[in-house]
Formats: sequence, C-alpha cells, structure tokens
Amino acid sequence: MYDVIIIGAGPTGSSAARELASNGYHVLLVEKFKMPRNKSCSGVLIKKSMDLVLQYFGEEVPAFTMCQPTDNKGMIFTNDKGKEYRYEQEGLNIWRSSFDCWLASKAAQAGAKLRDETVALSCEEQENGVLVNLKGTTSYSEMAKLVLVCDGVIGSVKRKLIHTPQNYITTYQTFNRGFIDLDRHYFYAYLQPKLSEYDAWFNVKDDYLIFGVSVKDPRNIKHYYSEFMEYMKKQYNAKITEQEKDERWLMPHIMPGCPIEYGYNRVLFAGETAGFLNPMGEGIYAGLESGYAAARAIEEMDWNDDLNLEALYSSYKSNTAVLRDYMTRQWDFVGSMSETFGHMKIR
Ligand SMILES: Cc1cc2nc3c(=O)[nH]c(=O)nc-3n(C[C@H](O)[C@H](O)[C@H](O)COP(=O)(O)OP(=O)(O)OC[C@H]3O[C@@H](n4cnc5c(N)ncnc54)[C@H](O)[C@@H]3O)c2cc1C
Repeated sequence: MYDVIIIGAGPTGSSAARELASNGYHVLLVEKFKMPRNKSCSGVLIKKSMDLVLQYFGEEVPAFTMCQPTDNKGMIFTNDKGKEYRYEQEGLNIWRSSFDCWLASKAAQAGAKLRDETVALSCEEQENGVLVNLKGTTSYSEMAKLVLVCDGVIGSVKRKLIHTPQNYITTYQTFNRGFIDLDRHYFYAYLQPKLSEYDAWFNVKDDYLIFGVSVKDPRNIKHYYSEFMEYMKKQYNAKITEQEKDERWLMPHIMPGCPIEYGYNRVLFAGETAGFLNPMGEGIYAGLESGYAAARAIEEMDWNDDLNLEALYSSYKSNTAVLRDYMTRQWDFVGSMSETFGHMKIR
C-alpha cells in the first residue's frame, strides 16, 4: 500500500512526488512513456518557474536541459489590430525532454519510486484506498491511500471518474533550418484571427526556427499554417531551407472563469488535468505550483484518523487560491490585449 500514487511525470507530477517523498511519504510515480519523453512545448521557463524549481527541487535549472540561446528575454505579442506589446523578463530556454526527466530524477532521488513505460488505465475506489490499474510489460494493480492524477491535457484517468467536457485546442509546430529577421532571444505570439484560431508563434531552439499555429478545428491547421508562414515571410523575411520535423499536440481550451476540477473522493487532480494553465507560456509554472499545492494539502492532513477528505479539498483549494486568482487575471489581461480573447475578460 503506497501513501500516494502519482500518475504522470510532467512538472506537476514530479513537483508533487518530490515534495511528498522528501517528507517521508511512500510514493509511486508512474509515467506512460520511457523517460526522457517528448512533450511538445516552446520550452520557455519564465522567472516564476525558475524560482519554483529552486524552491521545490533545491537546485537551479541545470545547463544540460537548456538549448541555445539559453536565455529567453521575454515575450512579444502582436494583437488582433497589429499592435505590438513587449514583456521583457528573465527566462530560460529548455528542452522539455531533458528538463522533465531531470525533475523526475530529483523526485526519485528524494525517495519516490519512479516507474516509466507504465500506463495508468483507471482508478477504483475501495474501502481503505484506491486501486490503480496499470499496464507495463504486464497488467497489474497497485493500492494507495490517495491518488494524484497529473496525466496532462487529455486526462483519460480523470475522464473515467467524472464526466467532463472535452475542450481542446490543437497545436501544430514545425522545426526548421533557415533565416529570419527577428531577435532569437524572444518568444513571439501573434493573435490576429487571420493567422490562427487561437494564437500563432515563433521561437528559436538551438538551430531550429520554430513556427506554430493553434486551432479549434484540427482540419484548419494547413490553412492557418500557410497564412502564418506567408505573414512571417512578408514581415520578417523568414526563409526556410529545410523542415526537419513537425508535431501536433493538444492543450486545454480554458473557459471564462477558469474552472478547476480538484478531484473525486480519494483521487486528486493537478496541473493541466485539473484545468490549471496560465496564458503567456506559463503552463510549467501552473503545473509546478498546483502539484506542490496538492502535495502540501496531503501533508497537512491528519493521517492517523480516517482520511478527512473535506479538510483535504479545503486545504488544496486554499493552497491554490493565489494561483487560480493569478490565472484568472492573466487570462483577463490577454482578453484586454486582443479581441480574439475578449471572452476571457472578467465582466
Ligand atoms: C505547443 C505548446 C507550447 C507550450 N509552451 C510552453 C512554454 O513555453 N512554457 C510553459 O510554461 N508552458 C508551455 N506549454 C504548456 C505546458 O507544456 C503544459 O502546461 C505543462 O506541460 C503541463 O504540465 P503537466 O505536468 O500538467 O502535464 P504534462 O507535462 O503533459 O505531463 C503529463 C505526463 O503524464 C503522462 N501520462 C499521460 N497519461 C498517462 C497515463 N494514463 N499513465 C501514466 N502517465 C501518463 C504523460 O506522458 C506526461 O509525461 C506549452 C504547451 C504546448 C502544447
């Protein structure tokens, strides 16, 4: 019987696992893929994420997780009217595969048992705990007093427990060799409705020029991507000599009011699974913070009595109140910058 089984070794799962394991809890961290695994991401670590890494993992982000240019100097948004907004801030440029693998290794060093290439299929409530059905090389089950689901955007384990609307944005990005007249230290986001159904972006990682678009309807990727590339050629002389790879992913389509699902009985949710996703490239921050907040709520519980789930959820909500408030204000801010996100404004 584990104290806590954590599903998903992204930033959310690893920050929770490290916190719990370093305080003596018996923790199993399961990850579907072999680590290091790929996660489609721009890999911008804002200052807040860097600070949380230091605070929760006890070390600065190591150099081997970074790509060139290692420093990200901020974000430059172009709104629906073509007006530019610059947000200068200290940040880092990392590859998610090595960054997430490092976070998970820190959780393992703290004592969490890390089992990769293991898919969590479902959770079943039992009288004294939760049975987690797993599939690695064979199918088997493990028991825990509590489960924390941090399996990311699709949240398949969560969806077997509660009915939840499936609102996704599809992202598409390409990795190219070539040239462009833009400063490679910044992340550029474009909010013009002609270029995407959500946002379009450009950034540089090592020698790759990365161009991305996000859409509500995946059938429209090709159309918006070619509109965006035409725009980048015209505005910034983008020239692609070779496209090496492309990738599609999903992200949660955050709704007005930023609803969060905290969990179901003994199964808590955190990170994107719960609905935590700040705009302006802050998903990693929201993941680290919500994973840690869930772990702290678990630690704050009285483990000697029958589990008081009401108290557990109450402290989890209170531990994430600042994050949630910040997330709502950030979406409101993006709404005020561009009509494309006008529906996210706090009325
Ligand atoms: C194109 C794109 C660009 C982005 N750019 C940035 C950025 O620059 N900066 C930033 O801060 N955020 C960015 N984000 C957001 C950020 O990537 C996410 O918000 C963040 O990864 C969420 O962390 P998480 O731990 O909740 O989920 P994830 O990082 O998705 O981790 C979930 C983990 O669970 C595993 N898993 C899934 N199902 C199961 C299962 N059944 N059993 C076991 N394991 C399972 C997955 O393999 C994965 O490892 C971007 C997102 C996208 C799509």
